[in-house]
Amino acid sequence: MEYRLTVKSKYANKYKSGYPLIFKEAIVNLKDVNEEGSIVKLVDERMQFLAKGYYGKQNKGYGWVLTRNEQEQFNQDFFKQKLQEAIKRRQHFYDQLDTTAFRVFNGEGDGIGGVTIEYFAGYYLFNWYSEGIYTFKELIIGALKELVEFKAIYQKKRFDTKGQYIEEDDFVTGERGEFPVIVKENGVNYAVYLNESAMVGVFLDQRDVRRTIRDRYANGKTVLNTFSYTGAFSVAAALGGASKTTSVDLANRSLPKTQEQFSINGIDAEEQDILVMDVFKYFKYAVKKNLKFDMVILDPPSFARSKKFVFSAEKDYKDLLKEAIAITEKNGVIVASTNASNFDMNKFKGFIKTAFKESNEQYSLMEEFSLPEDFRTIKAFPEGDYLKVCFIRKQS
Ligand code: SAH
Repeated sequence: MEYRLTVKSKYANKYKSGYPLIFKEAIVNLKDVNEEGSIVKLVDERMQFLAKGYYGKQNKGYGWVLTRNEQEQFNQDFFKQKLQEAIKRRQHFYDQLDTTAFRVFNGEGDGIGGVTIEYFAGYYLFNWYSEGIYTFKELIIGALKELVEFKAIYQKKRFDTKGQYIEEDDFVTGERGEFPVIVKENGVNYAVYLNESAMVGVFLDQRDVRRTIRDRYANGKTVLNTFSYTGAFSVAAALGGASKTTSVDLANRSLPKTQEQFSINGIDAEEQDILVMDVFKYFKYAVKKNLKFDMVILDPPSFARSKKFVFSAEKDYKDLLKEAIAITEKNGVIVASTNASNFDMNKFKGFIKTAFKESNEQYSLMEEFSLPEDFRTIKAFPEGDYLKVCFIRKQS
């Protein structure tokens, strides 16, 4: 089905200058569409064509603009062209020997909002963020098949399907893999499971941060890694010569997964601390025991609920920082990271400023990171660059 959606005059210029997300406030008659995957034509209030895209409800917005050419058809060739451009831009990643995992296609940053593709040592993983984009699955996967060789393709449906997680469901085509597959990132091994859950074991957007920790900050230091998941930051720190790492995560699975990440890198996991525990409890424990660390890594989810606490990055990051400041050695470094897309770097730096002020401590900002190159973003959609990481030195 094809629908015409009228953009309020206030927002017409936004779409004219390349804004890709279809959002509620901008559209007069959004209610006319309810079929996922419908083609939608955006027009202004004088019926002038603005852009064309698809309807797909996701956590942010109701679909994405795919073209500003009214004649363009969304066939396999259309998707092939987008994918081909994206692959070409990542050619140097394909050519690297010491990095075998990267993002091949980054949604709206590469011209198709709602879908990402990652490469893991011969395997491709699709993430579909709405039922709408999923209706183009055959065309998009067909396009990739024309362009690259692969061992297998897996996928994650990141929209609400209400059903239970089915392992088989993630396999699309090729030859079923044996997991974990071990990928390399700047020479470090990481175990990746494409058949287990939405999260596969390593978040590729932190590649540059992991390397920075390993190469420039970790040597000889005690490192506390909070919200550690599979301990990827801890592994980077240990390989960088950290005297000891402590990883803290609430999830039971984080213990064996972290042990595995250490062991595939030749590190004795027994010599590292891996705690299955609420981070907020750990902070209290550390204060009571007077434990302090040379480096504290904070990488919480943007929103999380545990038995005792609800954490929202926007509301609570400042307090999280204060907890970290209290157990960081003088001259120590806090790595503060967030993937919350509802505030920007300036606001994040504001949290840091306030946290130190309220702690009566001084700091200097050492360096900052946003998304790496393979997580391509576009100027017209700055909120797509969600990652914010600051290396902060607590002054003596
Ligand atoms: N820093 C990790 C990614 C973190 S993902 C990395 O770079 O790989 C977020 C993690 O936070 C999840 O593993 C989740 O289990 C954990 N988590 C959420 N709330 C928590 C809490 N209150 N205490 C400890 N861990 C928590």
